[in-house]
Amino acid sequence: MEKLQNYIGGALVAPADGTYLDNYEPAKGEVYSLIPRSKSADVEAAVEAANKAFPAWSALSNAQRSKHLMALSNRISERLDELAHAESRDNGKPFKLAQSVDIPRARDNFAFFATAILHQEDEFHSMGSKGFNYTLRQPLGAVACISPWNLPLYLFSWKIAPALASGNCVVAKPSEVTPYTAYLLSQICIEVGFPAGVLNIVHGLGAEAGQAMVEHQNIKAISFTGGTQTGARIASIAAPRFKKLSLELGGKNPNIIFDDCDFDRAVKISTRAAFANQGQICLCGSRIFIQKGIYNQFKEAFLERVKGLKVAPPENDDSRMGAVVSEDHMNKVLSYIKLAQEEGGTILHGGNRVQMPAPHAKGYFLEPTVIEGLSYDCRTNQEEIFGPVVTLTPFESEEEVLMMANSTEYGLACTIFTQDLNRAHRVAKDIHSGIVWINDWLVRDLRTPFGGVKNSGVGREGGFEALKFFTEAKNVCFNF
Ligand code: NDP
Repeated sequence: MEKLQNYIGGALVAPADGTYLDNYEPAKGEVYSLIPRSKSADVEAAVEAANKAFPAWSALSNAQRSKHLMALSNRISERLDELAHAESRDNGKPFKLAQSVDIPRARDNFAFFATAILHQEDEFHSMGSKGFNYTLRQPLGAVACISPWNLPLYLFSWKIAPALASGNCVVAKPSEVTPYTAYLLSQICIEVGFPAGVLNIVHGLGAEAGQAMVEHQNIKAISFTGGTQTGARIASIAAPRFKKLSLELGGKNPNIIFDDCDFDRAVKISTRAAFANQGQICLCGSRIFIQKGIYNQFKEAFLERVKGLKVAPPENDDSRMGAVVSEDHMNKVLSYIKLAQEEGGTILHGGNRVQMPAPHAKGYFLEPTVIEGLSYDCRTNQEEIFGPVVTLTPFESEEEVLMMANSTEYGLACTIFTQDLNRAHRVAKDIHSGIVWINDWLVRDLRTPFGGVKNSGVGREGGFEALKFFTEAKNVCFNF
């Protein structure tokens, strides 16, 4: 069985104590590789390598760092199909999705930040005849990047790229549930001659390797994407140590359909927003609110479209929904479907595990599930399920839907479908979320701020926000 390795100080290395974890293929429910179960000794070695590499890496010009990052981007591009197959196998997502979204986005993340630093402007504040100020933005040193399993290489690179571009050295941990493409990235670093120790990848459990990174006194900042409870735990460790912290956490996003919407577009995009990546995207619109005038019409058209979503092994060309990421996660989603029924919900479509023939008989496949008849404030409509489950809720007025949409502890993203410009912008202003799409979903311009309010996180990623996070501002004041 293949054994993955850590990437520390420019070399692939086994975990210090020689222990490994099973890595499952979700579509088959079988172990197919082993990953290092790293502990604090491995994290220590990685932090040491990062600190050793920091003086030379941070002293490079932006143009030199840009070239190194572009080399990673270009090599990801050359190995795109191989990476997409690996992502699909490791995560359960359709190969076509990994090939068209995940891996191209990882390639673009490196290219985006590699070129962003070529166009950065520095801040200068004149005091007229008295003097002036300028602001130095200096890298922090060794920083930690911790990412989840739903968009593995996509989110891993979204953190690593700005950290490296701004001159830091990185100790990174992918989710232990989906480590494979991060491992391939370490191979890519070696292939392109990426400087040793600048990026270090340590595999293992969050509570062991992840926590050791968060606690380490020489880790200056933590960029974390994952669940809200884990984020709270990390914050409680990092805050008293005064580390910089960026937390991208969970969501329970409303998708609001007004009766004057472009109907066909709303149905089509809402289906994608609900079930893309088996509903395992923090931005998925899992609470669909539909204005009463078109509720029945929307429900029928939406169900028709959902019936067309083919649940199939991820390698199949016609697979629109693959497997969810793990057996535990599948059982969690099924428990929420049961809860929805206990809370009085009616299942309009789905609700069950899908049994595939061999060799996928033990795979974690779920039907896309649509539920109606629940109150907006029941647990099913308040807690993050993070799977292929959506609820339909009718509403009367703008005020009512805003009240319901804003009622959760989360505030990550929102989608609004309406043809009324004034209403669209009014609702966008009053919704409690960090990201709003009007008449679309998941359109991403990498320059824009990305993040949530309330329990969906602290801080913003994206564009210059990310480069700012990974630097410390120092003001220099000069008096004539
Ligand atoms: P988790 O919070 O379980 O894990 C995220 C990462 O943190 C993993 O690498 C995990 O390792 C690690 N980790 C766990 N415990 C600790 C700890 N004590 N110290 C340091 N690191 C730790 O999230 P999931 O992987 O389950 O991802 C799903 C969640 O991510 C959802 O809530 C989703 O909404 C959110 N998410 C948010 C996004 C956003 O941009 N706001 C985007 C994508 C997802 P391990 O895997 O070993 O547990």
